[in-house]
Amino acid sequence: MNFSNQVALRACDSYDEERLVGILREQMAVFGYDRAFFEGKKVVIKPNLVMKKSPDAAATTNPAVLSALLTVLAEMDCRPMIAESPGGIFNRQRLEGIYRVCGIEAVAKAHGAALNYDTDAVHVSFPEGKTVKSFHILKSVAEADILIDLCVLKSHGLTKMSAAVKNFFGTIPGIEKFEMHATFPDYKDFGSMICDLCEMYCRTKTVIAVTDAVVGMEGNGPTAGTPRKIGALMMSPNPFASDVVGETLLGFGGTVPIVREGVARGLCPADISGIELIGDEVAPLVISDFKEPDSAQNRAPSLLTFFSRGKLGRFFMPRPIADTDKCRGCGECAASCPQHTIELTEKNGKKIARIRHADCIRCYCCQELCPFEAIRIKKNPLIRLVDSL
Ligand code: SF4
Ligand code: SF4
Repeated sequence: MNFSNQVALRACDSYDEERLVGILREQMAVFGYDRAFFEGKKVVIKPNLVMKKSPDAAATTNPAVLSALLTVLAEMDCRPMIAESPGGIFNRQRLEGIYRVCGIEAVAKAHGAALNYDTDAVHVSFPEGKTVKSFHILKSVAEADILIDLCVLKSHGLTKMSAAVKNFFGTIPGIEKFEMHATFPDYKDFGSMICDLCEMYCRTKTVIAVTDAVVGMEGNGPTAGTPRKIGALMMSPNPFASDVVGETLLGFGGTVPIVREGVARGLCPADISGIELIGDEVAPLVISDFKEPDSAQNRAPSLLTFFSRGKLGRFFMPRPIADTDKCRGCGECAASCPQHTIELTEKNGKKIARIRHADCIRCYCCQELCPFEAIRIKKNPLIRLVDSL
C-alpha cells in the first residue's frame, strides 16, 4: 500500500445534507472511488460511536454525514454495512441503544443500510507490527475489502486527539479494549499499538478516511468535552495523512503522539507542508484556541516528562477524580477500569465511585465512559506550580 500524502478538504460550516453530499461526491471523484472501484467489494463503514450520546454532543459521528455518505455510495450501487464496537459491554442490546441514541439507526433505516450486530471477533496476524503482531478484531471488519473510517475530529484525554487513526481502536471488541489499556499502560506504547492497528488495515485493505470536522469536540474529549465548530470535511486514502491535517486544524500541529509515531514510521509527512491538499486551504480554518484535554501533558516540564514511563511517571500525570455531586453510583466506570481500581462506596446514604490512585494507569477510560460526566481530571500540584511559572 502506498501511504498517500493526499488529503481532500472542503470548508463546511453546517450539517446541511445537500452540501455534505456535494462535498463527498466531489472527494470520491478526486480519488477515483467510482462505481467500478466499489463493484463486487464488501464495504464496511466504521463510524465513531464511542458511547450513547445524542448527535448534539459532538462525541459521535454525526448522522447527517453518515446519511450523505450512504447517498453518495448508493449512487455507485454500493450498499455498505455499518459496524462499531463501542466502549464497555459488547452485546446486541448495547449496540441497539447506541445506534438508536446516536441517530444512526434512523439513518440506516432510511437508506436500507445494514447495521452490524454480530459480536464475533477473529484473530488476525500482523507480523510487521512494531508493538503488536496480532489483533483480535470484529469479524465483520476483518471480512471487509474496503473500510470507510468515518471519524470525528476531537480532543482525547489519553491520546490528545482522536480522529482517523484512533477511530480503528473501536474495531477491537468491547471490554477487550480495556485489556489493551492494561497491557500498554504507557501512553507511548498504547499509541504505538494504535498505529500498528491502523497500519495493519492500511496494508491489508483499502481504507478511505472520512473525517467529520464540521463540529468537533474540545476540552475533555472524547466524550466529556464541549462541541466546537471547526468547519471542515476531509477525505484521504491515508488516515495518518488525514490526521496531520486534523492536528493542524486544532492548532495541535506536531504534538499529537499517534501522529508523531506515524511520521517516525514514514507513513505520513511531518507537517502540513508535506501534504498535497486538494480543495480548500487549511490556514483560514485553523483554530488557535482549541482547548486541550485537562490531562494534556505537553506543558509539563522536561524533567518530569523524562519520567513519563512507568509508575513514577504516572504519579506526575493528571489523575481522575469522581465528582461526588455528579456521581450517580451507576458503576460504569468500575466496569470499564482495566486496573479494577474503582469501587463503589457509600457516602451520606449515596453510592459513589472511589478511585485507588496507586494502581491507576491514567488511561482515562473511566472519564470516557461515565454517562454523567462525573469524572474530573486533576493535575498534579507540582505540574500546576511549574505551569504557573
Ligand atoms: S463516576 Fe460516573 S460512571 Fe462512575 S459510578 Fe459515578 S456516575 Fe457512574
Ligand atoms: S481509574 Fe480510570 S484512569 Fe485509572 S486505570 Fe481505572 S479507568 Fe484508567
